[in-house]
Amino acid sequence: MICCNCLFSLAALLAAQQGSAFTPSSSTPLVPGSAAAAALSPTILRVSGTLPSPGDFANDDDTKQEKEFTPVPAEITTENPLRVIVAGAGVGGLALARQLSKNPLMDVTVLERTDEFKRFGGPIQLASNALEILKVMDEPTFDKVMEKFTFTGDKENGIKDGIRDEWYAKFDLESPAKIRNMPYTGVIERPDLQNIYLESLPKGIVRNGDKVVGYERNPKGHGVRVKMNSGAAIEGDVLIGADGIWSAVRAEMRKEPVRGDDSGVTYSGYTVFAGELDYDSFDNGKVGYKVYIGPGQYFVITDIGNGRYQWYAFLAREPGSAETEEMPDGKSTYLQSIFNGWSKDVHHILKATQEHEIEQRDLYDRPPSVRKTWTDGPVALLGDAVHAMMPNLGQGGCQAIEDAYVIVQELENCKTRNDVSGALSTYRNRRLMRSAAVQGLSRFASDIIIRGFDTPAKIVKGENGGIKFENFNYAGIVTSILRPILPIFFTVQFHFLYDGWKNEGQIDAKSAAGLSLMSGLIVFLVSGSVGEVSLVLGPALEGLLGTEGLLIGGESVTSSEGATSLFDTISGLF
Ligand SMILES: Cc1cc2nc3c(=O)[nH]c(=O)nc-3n(C[C@H](O)[C@H](O)[C@H](O)COP(=O)(O)OP(=O)(O)OC[C@H]3O[C@@H](n4cnc5c(N)ncnc54)[C@H](O)[C@@H]3O)c2cc1C
Repeated sequence: MICCNCLFSLAALLAAQQGSAFTPSSSTPLVPGSAAAAALSPTILRVSGTLPSPGDFANDDDTKQEKEFTPVPAEITTENPLRVIVAGAGVGGLALARQLSKNPLMDVTVLERTDEFKRFGGPIQLASNALEILKVMDEPTFDKVMEKFTFTGDKENGIKDGIRDEWYAKFDLESPAKIRNMPYTGVIERPDLQNIYLESLPKGIVRNGDKVVGYERNPKGHGVRVKMNSGAAIEGDVLIGADGIWSAVRAEMRKEPVRGDDSGVTYSGYTVFAGELDYDSFDNGKVGYKVYIGPGQYFVITDIGNGRYQWYAFLAREPGSAETEEMPDGKSTYLQSIFNGWSKDVHHILKATQEHEIEQRDLYDRPPSVRKTWTDGPVALLGDAVHAMMPNLGQGGCQAIEDAYVIVQELENCKTRNDVSGALSTYRNRRLMRSAAVQGLSRFASDIIIRGFDTPAKIVKGENGGIKFENFNYAGIVTSILRPILPIFFTVQFHFLYDGWKNEGQIDAKSAAGLSLMSGLIVFLVSGSVGEVSLVLGPALEGLLGTEGLLIGGESVTSSEGATSLFDTISGLF
């Protein structure tokens, strides 16, 4: 969408891209090669009548000898539960672990690379689709989240003209949630969310301090062995790669490097500055978030509750600009000069922010993985590991929660270990198109809002009573033309997001067709101001093609072929 249910959290910046996390009282330090673990051979473990748990891992020497996999019975029972290993204790990994750990047929282990969970970070937006899942899946957790939650969805939200400081378009987050009886969108401090999950998990499930570096599948039967950086190896029946944008599980699955050009992760073209502070805003309690647009950049101000605010400044820059761009008087002063002439609100909040309250990060995402694999037998990817997206829709974490919801359903349907691969493939099929659409729309939003939008063209009264034409360039005129269209676009988008949270079967055809048509219109108009159609059309089409099953007859697309050929045909026209 053209932006805007954006909540671009400082926490997410750091947690998503650096992998920081927060202190669980329940977390157990991972002690690779510990005496107990090393001494336990699978045979000895089986004498006790239980399978080795994923936490029972071999030491260095054991792994070098290429140990046989522990034999496991096919049937899943409470004596021999399904051993699920989750790589990564982020938003998605913890939601998955919490839900699975309630089931006595599941034996869950979460492997988190950070030594400890530090209490760090700002808020994350949880939109109605993710909240509805929390409510349905796990009411006690939902109630705890609500205790710490600040609603934005019941307030005024929208886009403001960054120069003239007036509303450009508002969007209604409230009605689409209200008519579906869904919780309103809002924000929670990311550390609070993580603590709620960590406290809800049985002791010892989360193991910190060693990172997953790869895995191998059992060539002769069930199971997967997870390789740790320390040399330890951990056996399980299922591995879910919830290890974020720089996923080691994905790298192993696709035989790609974790980082770099061949990793599939791409620099978005944008850097973001984020600030979080106590702030006495004139519209407190009335406005949730405001996106200030203008030429070549934009600024977001969000109420995050309890008198605290967060802001973001999005700039189109080369990667690494934090090192190359000089800011001798600090980030706030630098941004004040970049946003010279913009709304006094922007300057007011920038001036109120202290240097240590500001962070800068380059933004990375991935094109939708319509053509690439999500699963490898008993291994599957979740969240940013498979569909990292730009933060403009505030949906990255929400989509990770949707993944977790579907994985839980599919794994809980498995009666035997033979069912696991099929269950994970079904998970992928249920999630592919929806996540690709959201991912594509997020990229589309950033590209269009930064490259395509400008101060809207306007006819105003001049000082001597005559009329004045303000900003009558192509981008200014297009921005004006889009003004009445955008609220409709937002509404269609929210219907699409809120209707589809169950991920059952086909994407809602009406919403997605509307979304595709409107996006096409916007792309068409905006591409003129960008000057190069492909700049906008490429990412936009990839996003729209996430829903293209609808365009080709309303059938749910579970293979990528339709998407690929349609994409090739349309992009060939330009
Ligand atoms: C600026 C910004 C703002 C955002 N705002 C929002 C928002 O408001 N709402 C929203 O829904 N989304 C938002 N997002 C997106 C959101 O942060 C991510 O989509 C979400 O965190 C993805 O969850 P995840 O569980 O897949 O991965 P992550 O949250 O990134 O978690 C991955 C975990 O895996 C660990 N890990 C990494 N590698 C390994 C390894 N090899 N072995 C073991 N552990 C490993 C990491 O330490 C980390 O704990 C934002 C993103 C950014 C960049």
